[in-house]
This record gives sequence, C-alpha cells and structure tokens, in this order.
Amino acid sequence: MINKAKAIEEEIIRLRREIHQHPELGFQEFRTAQLVADTLQEIGGIDIQTEVGRTGVVGRIGTGDGPTIGIRADMDALPIHEQVDVPFKSQNDGVMHACGHDAHTAILLGVAHLLRQSFADEGEKWRGNVRFLFQPSEEQWGEDGISGATAMIQDNALENVDAVIALHTSSLSPSGQCSFWDGPTLAAADMFDAWIRGDGGHGAYPHQGIDPNFILSTVLSNLYAIPSRYISPLETNVVSVGAIHAGQAPNVIPKEVYVNGTIRSMDQSIRKKLWAEVERAFSLAESLGGSYEFKLRKGYPPTINDARVNGWMRQVAREVAGEGQVIDAPMGMAGEDFSIMSQKAPGAMFSLGCYTPGGGGHHTPLFDIDEKALHVGAAVLAETARRFVKGELG
Ligand SMILES: [Zn+2]
Ligand SMILES: [Zn+2]
Repeated sequence: MINKAKAIEEEIIRLRREIHQHPELGFQEFRTAQLVADTLQEIGGIDIQTEVGRTGVVGRIGTGDGPTIGIRADMDALPIHEQVDVPFKSQNDGVMHACGHDAHTAILLGVAHLLRQSFADEGEKWRGNVRFLFQPSEEQWGEDGISGATAMIQDNALENVDAVIALHTSSLSPSGQCSFWDGPTLAAADMFDAWIRGDGGHGAYPHQGIDPNFILSTVLSNLYAIPSRYISPLETNVVSVGAIHAGQAPNVIPKEVYVNGTIRSMDQSIRKKLWAEVERAFSLAESLGGSYEFKLRKGYPPTINDARVNGWMRQVAREVAGEGQVIDAPMGMAGEDFSIMSQKAPGAMFSLGCYTPGGGGHHTPLFDIDEKALHVGAAVLAETARRFVKGELG
C-alpha cells in the first residue's frame, strides 16, 4: 500500500496546496467542500452526499451490507494571518490552515483514490463499506454551540458506522513518524469566565472598601495550586488563566475583575472535580468580603482511543511506515472534536509527524508541514480500511 500511496503522492500534495491556498473558517468551507465533492466524483464509484452537517461531505464505497468503517478528516482553517512564504500561501487574508486540516482533507482524498483502486481490483473480497467523513468546523462552534463532529452526527453521518479512524498532523514530531496511544490521548478542553466583585474606591484608602484586585491575588495562587494541591499530580490536568481585565487609573481601585481561562483533563471524573475546584478558588472572594460569578463553558470531551481499533492502525503503520517510525505517545493537552465521533463508534486517532525546519507550532502564523509525510498517513488509513472491509481484522 505504501508504494501505491507513493504513486499518488504528487496528487495528494497538489490537493493540499489547493486547499491551503483557499482556507475557509468553520461552517464556511464551501469551496473546500466543492473541491472534495468534485474530486470524489472524478475518482468515481463513490456515492457522494454534500451539505452534511452544514458544509460537510460524506463519500460511501463498498458492498452495501456488512460492517462499515468511517475515516474522518476536518476541513476548516483558523483566523490567523499566514507568514509562511510559499507560492501557495493563503489567498484569503487573515485566514490560514495553521493546524494541518488542509493536509487531513488531501490525505483522505488520497485514501479515497487508493480504496477505489482496491475496490476495482479486489471488490469481490470486500465484505463491508468505507465511509469518508469530511467534516466542517473542528476549531470552532457555531452559534448553536456545536462543532462539526456533532453537526455531522446530527445529520446521521455516523449511522451504522462500526469503527472510526483519523489522523492529526504534528508539526513538532519527526516527519513520517506515527504516534499511537491507547486510551486518553487528547484532553477535555473546557473554558471558564469569572468575575470577582468588590467596592472600588481611592487607591490611597483601600481599607475603606473591598479591593477585587487584592482578592484576585489570593484566587490566582489557589487556581495555580489546583494541579498537585487539590488534584493528584498523578492525574493529567492543567488550569491556565488566559485573560485578566480590571481597572484603568493607577490610583483607582476597580469594582470588578474579569478572568478567563482553560481547564484541561484526560478523565471525566477528574474533569468534574476540576470544575468544582476552579469555582472553589473563585469562591474565596466571599471569605475575603467580596463576591464572585463563575461561568463554565464545557468544551470537547477527552479523546479516548479504543485499544482494538488503535491496534489495527498501529500494526498497519509498523508494516507500511516501518517499525522505526512507530512510537507510543499521547498527543497532548489540546482538544479535538473527533472525541465526539469516537463516543458514537469505537475510534482511534494517531499523530502523523510532519516536522519541517523553520516551521512553527500549530495555531501559529509560521505553521508549516513536510509534505513528504502525507502519503504515509494515506497509506496507514487506506490499508487499515482495506483490511477492515476484507474482514482481516480481529
Ligand atoms: Zn487546531
Ligand atoms: Zn486540528
């Protein structure tokens, strides 16, 4: 399969550049979805459904009956101004594919090529189906508070799917390296908004009122103590404050401080404990004479890889990418709405190293990837699906 993937490498790279040049934000992937649908049409033999989950596309190939494996790619870009100097630089000012979703989409189109070939060559041995899931808006929620994965599920894209697989590029890992991890691999990503309230007053006479800035100093030291002092250091968790807004003049104590931040965890019970602990830190405002308001914004659940499905891909990766290119490592504390799909069907996502010298990290204006890794990702996904539909996987 790696040779077949290598043979279409140029086509995958061409598609990736085409998508990279025309990035679109979540639920606005009209051009990208059109390109996906047109490409699937050209490949032929694939049943295509558009406007799934608003701007998503679903492709189906297979016997019609038997089990189905879903392969997911996200298509959306980020509100970042690209600073990478390449001929196929973003033409949509202020929008950039800075997370590699252009590569994910191009890889899945490559997978469609490869599986179409397989179906033509050995379709009589197929006992199931492959569903290509091109999902919108992984990075952001629509006005109704849902992201692309949920929108796709609401439109039945995962109905009768028995397993779902995906990959995510990693611009920090060696090119072509495939990282696998059974169980929690990406975090639950929750946010909070909080307000600490006092009286405000003259900076020279703070004892005459309640100073929310002073209260904040106690709240912050408590927030940062949650990992280790209130939650075991053996549990993976992070609390970070992103914004603090209060006051203007040097001699005026403000009435209120606004604080926001993010809470990350890998386990649902620790996640709930963290929500309570973060609120408890803000509730200290009351014992110091002030008041507080706390609003939790629940994000994606943790991404938990099914060991069986992950094992299929890991074995394939060892064969197609080579033993030396496969490692075991969790992906990190970022969040992914693939977690929602893998709650619907047993699922697994692996990380595909795409490091290139000079390239920045994910979500930065200098984000860049080594395109030579893309066909490796396509080979792993396609071969896993091929073995699945041929009934070769346990
Ligand atoms: Zn991202
Ligand atoms: Zn991403």
